[in-house]
Amino acid sequence: MDLPDNAISARGLVKTYPATRTMPAMQALKGVDLTIPRGAIFGLLGPNGAGKSTFINILAGLTKKTAGRVEIWGRDIDTRARDARAAIGVVPQEIAADVFFTPRESLDVQAGLYGVPKAQRRTDELLAALGLSDKADAYVRQLSGGMKRRLMVAKAMVHNPPVLVLDEPTAGVDVELRRQLWAYVESLNRQGVTIVLTTHYLEEAEALCDTIAIVNRGQVVACEPTAQLLKRLDTRTVVVTPDTALAAAPRIGEFETRLRPNGDLAVAFKSAGAGVEQVLAQIRAAGVTIRDLRTEDPDLEDVFVALTSDSPRPEAA
Ligand code: ADP
Repeated sequence: MDLPDNAISARGLVKTYPATRTMPAMQALKGVDLTIPRGAIFGLLGPNGAGKSTFINILAGLTKKTAGRVEIWGRDIDTRARDARAAIGVVPQEIAADVFFTPRESLDVQAGLYGVPKAQRRTDELLAALGLSDKADAYVRQLSGGMKRRLMVAKAMVHNPPVLVLDEPTAGVDVELRRQLWAYVESLNRQGVTIVLTTHYLEEAEALCDTIAIVNRGQVVACEPTAQLLKRLDTRTVVVTPDTALAAAPRIGEFETRLRPNGDLAVAFKSAGAGVEQVLAQIRAAGVTIRDLRTEDPDLEDVFVALTSDSPRPEAA
């Protein structure tokens, strides 16, 4: 069997939600080009409203794109819709539990929907893989939230798709379960399943993904190997409270310096370059007496400021 180079490829993907009585038309995807290689654990990272779910819903066949081309496993979603859908499993954000079924029944129903013949069903294997064997015959409404979420993952895998998409898999999930889910996702990946996950946690994408695309306001602002991306974001900030209030931010060597509204002085530096010591020496050399100090790591907001071209910072190209 010929395997495609890319699990997913999108070209010029546009989605415009039409205007409603209360809302103007909304262009949620503004010409997205994205290539997700076969075998990746690919993170789609972006703040709420960036367009991540819209992208995933188009892949899942739940939302119609406005323009552009999408292929899943080399199959065009317009001309080979059925084949494209067979290649992908999607774990939605919301837990939609079939309260009248047991997990075993639920998986059987789902396999039926995908036309998986009885002999090829992997119900027991999936239940075991997701730690649900001893709940196989319990009513779904008796399962904990975490168990329901694992059942959703199992449901997305019944037709053995080569691509698994998880939409915000750990939103509202406790640490223990998060680790379990990550471990399972990694084991699926080792078996050859391409994983795509959306998250608005930098930390989650960092821990799990080999490649990260950053989406902001319907556009891909960065897409590169995780290590490379993190290196670019390797900015930390020294924040000092001066002993006497400053009228304006002084020049602190070559560092980018701002005076915050509360009077704190924030000096950004590349961890790979200067150290905190060097930054502090420069602050003192500028005549600032330090009453208090702390350091800050970048958060997702800083990432966008650093990567988005419409940011107000002149150096953020
Ligand atoms: P994310 O998943 O990154 O949080 P979404 O894809 O859900 O982002 O949303 C992208 C933008 O599209 C948001 O501004 C959102 O309000 C809008 N949007 C999403 N779904 C709809 C819809 N069904 N109708 C109108 N606007 C929508």
